[in-house]
Amino acid sequence: MDIDILCLFPEFFSGPLDVSMIKRARDRGILNIDVIDIRQFSTERFRKVDDRPYGGGPGMVMMADPVASAIRSRKRAETKTIYLSPQGATLTARKCRELAHEKHLILLSGHYEGIDQRVIDSDVDEELSIGDYVLTNGSLAALVLLDAVSRFVPGVLGDETASLYDSFEQGLLDWPHYTRPEEFEGKKVPEVLISGDHAKIARWRLKAAEEKTEKVRPDLWKKYQDQKLQ
Ligand code: SAM
Repeated sequence: MDIDILCLFPEFFSGPLDVSMIKRARDRGILNIDVIDIRQFSTERFRKVDDRPYGGGPGMVMMADPVASAIRSRKRAETKTIYLSPQGATLTARKCRELAHEKHLILLSGHYEGIDQRVIDSDVDEELSIGDYVLTNGSLAALVLLDAVSRFVPGVLGDETASLYDSFEQGLLDWPHYTRPEEFEGKKVPEVLISGDHAKIARWRLKAAEEKTEKVRPDLWKKYQDQKLQ
């Protein structure tokens, strides 16, 4: 999968893209990630990319021209261009799984008050938000999307079944996990997990996942129950 991140501060990405699973996937050619500085497409003096908003008000707006040129320099027939924006639909696990089938993603990171609407209308396929709060810029959101989507790209996790039991996959949160030692500060690992009885373990895990979901995510719990009734 090819992923191009378009932003104003490419240095932000050195570090997160160079460790752990994302690094391994890049080294093995499963993910080809480029970070592109939108400033290099500016035709203004001092590579200016922002200006004051028409209509007045605080802050600056990213100009259409350099953003459109940056997108078009990378766009191919199969490209999906995503603008990370608090005004987009909220990113979900289902959406990440869907995006993992794409061949080429452009992730556009906004800065300041955002991007001139005309380029969003002409060159962006989809706006996605990582939650109902406002970040200083879209780089962190692009990283969140990239990381969450990558987990569904074959070969990135190593064990393809690993993501099947994660939170949200079965409509529930994950069950609790334990590892050695069997006793920690007087607290023992639940007996059933060392019983060797796989059917019993599966039942215990499902029950624990249901209890947790009902307690902390009533919205998910309701959807899960509605689905069970269908
Ligand atoms: N004026 C914009 C608004 O209220 O919708 C917020 C602009 S924000 C300060 C600057 C940039 O950060 C946005 O263009 C977007 O790329 C990014 N951003 C901020 N919050 C985000 C979120 N929750 N999800 C995705 N991107 C976000």
